[in-house]
Amino acid sequence: MEKKLAELKRRLLEIDDLNGATAVLNWDQATYMPPAGAAARGRQLATLSQLAHEKFIDPEIGKLLDDLRPYAESLPYDSDDASLIRVTRRQYDKSTKVPAALLGAFFQHSAATYQAWTQARPANDFTAVQPYLEKTLDFSRQIANCFPGYDHIADPLIDFSDEGMKAESVRALFSELRTQLVPIVQAIIAQPEADNSCLHHSFPEADQLAFGKKVIEAYGFDFKGGRQDKTHHPFMTKFALGDIRITTRVKTNDLSEALFSTLHEAGHAMYEMGVSENLDGTPLASGASSGVHESQSRLWENLVGRSLPFWQHYYPELQAAFPEQLGIVSLDTFYRAINRVERSLIRTDADEVTYNLHVMIRFDLELALLEGSLAVKDLPDAWQARYQSDLGLQAPDNRDGVLQDVHWYSGTIGGAFQGYTLGNIMSAAFFDRALAAQPAIMAEIGRGEFATLHGWLKENIYQHGAKFTANELIERVTGGELSIDPYIRYLRTKFGALYNLS
Ligand code: ZN
Repeated sequence: MEKKLAELKRRLLEIDDLNGATAVLNWDQATYMPPAGAAARGRQLATLSQLAHEKFIDPEIGKLLDDLRPYAESLPYDSDDASLIRVTRRQYDKSTKVPAALLGAFFQHSAATYQAWTQARPANDFTAVQPYLEKTLDFSRQIANCFPGYDHIADPLIDFSDEGMKAESVRALFSELRTQLVPIVQAIIAQPEADNSCLHHSFPEADQLAFGKKVIEAYGFDFKGGRQDKTHHPFMTKFALGDIRITTRVKTNDLSEALFSTLHEAGHAMYEMGVSENLDGTPLASGASSGVHESQSRLWENLVGRSLPFWQHYYPELQAAFPEQLGIVSLDTFYRAINRVERSLIRTDADEVTYNLHVMIRFDLELALLEGSLAVKDLPDAWQARYQSDLGLQAPDNRDGVLQDVHWYSGTIGGAFQGYTLGNIMSAAFFDRALAAQPAIMAEIGRGEFATLHGWLKENIYQHGAKFTANELIERVTGGELSIDPYIRYLRTKFGALYNLS
């Protein structure tokens, strides 16, 4: 058994090396690569991904997993070895069930769709991508149908990013959330709008970056094992446990852009940095799901980084960094500015309260497309109708409507959006437990200290990596199923005070 386990780990480490190299090339492409490198880079990435995929679906890995099953079953469920064998088995089954020819054809189609979208969006031309999207929908159904026995056709696609979650349970959770959210949004909108002009003076780039770095270093982001660079669309990526990268973008006329994207990506990075060393180089050395990952970025970005205690400590430092711009702006004005709620068209610019409405619109439309109750040609109108009913807004064109997000134009239709809102719900559920276990956390945040919170997250979430599914982790941490209550309580308390709601 020991020899077989060692052989499995050796093969998985080789695949992890290939994936690490792919991540370096991807990161470079998004940060420093000169434009003329694009064609070769695309080819290099395809070669490495193909190699890693072939090595992973090798029947020898299936055989090793079969042989190791009794050994895994003899161990405690949460032990490193049992978890490795269990999780690798699930990933192996998923990777081998989709025929290589189908996957290859889909990747080729996705690359062409993405290319078409990069031109169609600025041209506001939905009809240019409509035939691509129709094919994407067909591919998405074919991929889902490689996993027969589902309750809803979206289930296998949701399972790719949020293992164990299903369309019906997510839909039920979201509809409960929507019922609670809409009246909160309406009550806020009825109040005078917060003034956020203090965020829109001119803020030099270097000073913005320096301030963000200081904060995330205090959070616990380890610059010996990570770094930050600039990019168009901020992201986090991991080359190895000791080399985790985050990126940000800076707008000199918008102080919130770089700062909050830095706090967000640092949350993702600290999760990866906190995974147990014993899991390094295996499929367990990552986050539990896209929703859990997002819960950690949103926790550090919003629950900590947009809280009043946090700014009671940091605002004087921010004012010292930007005395001309913020010297005469009060903490109260600044705090209201960074937490301004407004109905808007763009998901990525949305505030904490309205953000989930944007996500739920996309999730519902995806399900309708997959079910066949909505045709791709009717998608732009369906999009507009939902923005009208949920947010009271009409996009002036498809550019800021159905062409807004890259997701449907670079992957499957289905499975890409639910993680954002699941992450918000989970962030409050986890934070609630952290505060119950360590009541001093908020007072520490008010002193710019984060070690107790960071330690609690490491102990209860980070160290486990991908050992547990999201539902297993939630059960372990909160003692029950995922509930929207802590999240709604959090929003009511915070925004109730900000907007004088009864
Ligand atoms: Zn994120």
